[in-house]
Amino acid sequence: MTVTVAKSAGFCFGVSRAVNIVEKLLDEGKCVYTLGPIIHNQHMVNELAARGVKIADVPDDVKNGETLVIRSHGIPESVTDRIKELGIKCEDATCPFVLKIHRIAAEYSRCGKIILIAGDEHHPEVQGIIGHCHSEYHSYQNCDELEEILKKFPYLKNKEICVVAQTTFDISEWKKSLKIFQKVCTNTKIFDTICSATSDRQSEAEVLASQSDLMLVIGGRHSSNTNKLYHICKDKCRETYLIESVTELPLFAVRQANRIGITAGASTPASIIKEVLVTMTEEIKNVEETKTEPSEFEALLEESFKNYNTDGRIKGVVVGVTPTEVRVDVGRKQTGIIPLAELSDDPSAKAEDLVKVGDELNLVIMKTNDQEGTILLSKKRFDSQKGWDTIVKAEEEKSVITGVVTEIVKGGVIALSNGVKVFIPASQATATRGESLDGLLKQEVSFRIIEVTKQRRRAVGSIRSVLNDERKKKAEEFWADAEVGKKYTGTVKSLTSYGAFVDIGGIDGMIHISELSWNRIKHPSEVVNVGDTVEVYIKALDPEKGKISLGYKKDEDNPWEILKNQYPEGTECEVEIVGLTQFGAFAKIIPGIDGLIHVSQISNERVEKPEDVLSVGQKVKVKITAIDFEQKRISLSMKALLTDTAEEEDAE
Ligand code: SF4
Repeated sequence: MTVTVAKSAGFCFGVSRAVNIVEKLLDEGKCVYTLGPIIHNQHMVNELAARGVKIADVPDDVKNGETLVIRSHGIPESVTDRIKELGIKCEDATCPFVLKIHRIAAEYSRCGKIILIAGDEHHPEVQGIIGHCHSEYHSYQNCDELEEILKKFPYLKNKEICVVAQTTFDISEWKKSLKIFQKVCTNTKIFDTICSATSDRQSEAEVLASQSDLMLVIGGRHSSNTNKLYHICKDKCRETYLIESVTELPLFAVRQANRIGITAGASTPASIIKEVLVTMTEEIKNVEETKTEPSEFEALLEESFKNYNTDGRIKGVVVGVTPTEVRVDVGRKQTGIIPLAELSDDPSAKAEDLVKVGDELNLVIMKTNDQEGTILLSKKRFDSQKGWDTIVKAEEEKSVITGVVTEIVKGGVIALSNGVKVFIPASQATATRGESLDGLLKQEVSFRIIEVTKQRRRAVGSIRSVLNDERKKKAEEFWADAEVGKKYTGTVKSLTSYGAFVDIGGIDGMIHISELSWNRIKHPSEVVNVGDTVEVYIKALDPEKGKISLGYKKDEDNPWEILKNQYPEGTECEVEIVGLTQFGAFAKIIPGIDGLIHVSQISNERVEKPEDVLSVGQKVKVKITAIDFEQKRISLSMKALLTDTAEEEDAE
């Protein structure tokens, strides 16, 4: 024995929505009235009545403070006006597909077109549609009635006609009637307003009935769509039963059947279908030949009612891409829309670069706009939810993740990782405190998650943690082969009054101020600045303390070497007086090297005090008379030049 439950069995979107609205109001403690039974299912109506829902025949039945719910069938314009007049609270649960028919009827009738409605004029939905017609209208339940109308009102053939259908109208009858319009009426605007939930349900029921030897249609006898299902199934399967609840289950027929098909009307609650299935299961268990396990029924049932996600996640297939939004088919009657801003976190991204028609996307439902019949969806929120799991895992595992810094905010930066915004405090954003954060903007950074607040979905990251690890690794590598004299190219990271700290590839060394220049300097900034690239070498190492002393000044720049090579004893040169004492004057020969002109060597004449003939800044010619490289002393003489000149003159 096989049992097949139609996938489309049970509540449709419009009915489900109406019931949800009522239940929500009850949960909020409201006193609820429905304008007529909320759905064509007595069981559901009784259940709601037990929770306090009352049925109003007209809006006037509702008192102030009570809430009136308009059911999915919709109402005529006149009733809407009356509700407004009375000023009563009202929740409109009219199905958006029905509202669409109202709009068509109102718009075309206002233009003077004659409205033809394929449907039962006594059905509340058709009553509502008629209530939006502002010109002549006619309704027909089948092609015979349509032909009668055309015979009775022959002028219709030449008039402008607008045709709509009750959402649950029989599809085959609709198709036949369209052929009549094509043949007879020349000026007809046709709107196929049959709800696809209905057409799908009918088509599926037809196929299922043709494959079954027992067909059960579960639903209210007053439900138009349930009745249509029954007739469709009866045509294909002689053993078709319409049952309202489990009490009507034809057990005798179930025992005999080999292939049982089950469908249900749009207003049949899942609980009733489940009850029927459970009872059938027990019955079948009692039949010796049964091969079907109860669990299969459960699975079938679950499968049949996987219609709407409860966790807000949904899959959709892209059917259209525009610069501002992406349209997706989510397997519902409503159109799924992803606004560009909900597609990606990147504000400069273009929709056509991110998705293409046919792509299947994982999405989050943000809002259902029942008036428009649309569902607002977000891809970026799904990505973010998925990304959040990655973030939480990264925090647990202390693993390194990457992200792009999108913002510099007060106190730190925001990095986007896996669609989740991670706050990185300034103290954790760079290797050392106080560094500028500007350079991080738009950069991809690696970091660890150091804190997660699940309730607020807040994550805090640390770039420094990763940098510290990197530095540690580099330090180990450095110490493994560091030796005095080894040269490095480094970057000046900071300056102090006593030296410059240089990053030599993940580890810092210091150039003492005395090592920066052969000349006397007051501050390292006279030679280097932060950010400068410098060539250095290791002068000394202290692995225990982790101290590295760096050398910077070069031998070839040593002024004593320059002096040795370019200013040997006997050289005559111009010098600048830089200081005066009682015993002589100090003069700069080259930068970093001063010599002494003894008072006795200033002139051939007797000089009492050097300042009597010399002044600081004055440039004079001297002869280098002696160099003591060990003591770093140089003797200069002005007089030697005068003597030489006198001797030359004498010789002449
Ligand atoms: S059958 Fe279609 S039109 Fe009617 S209430 Fe359900 S979803 Fe709306």
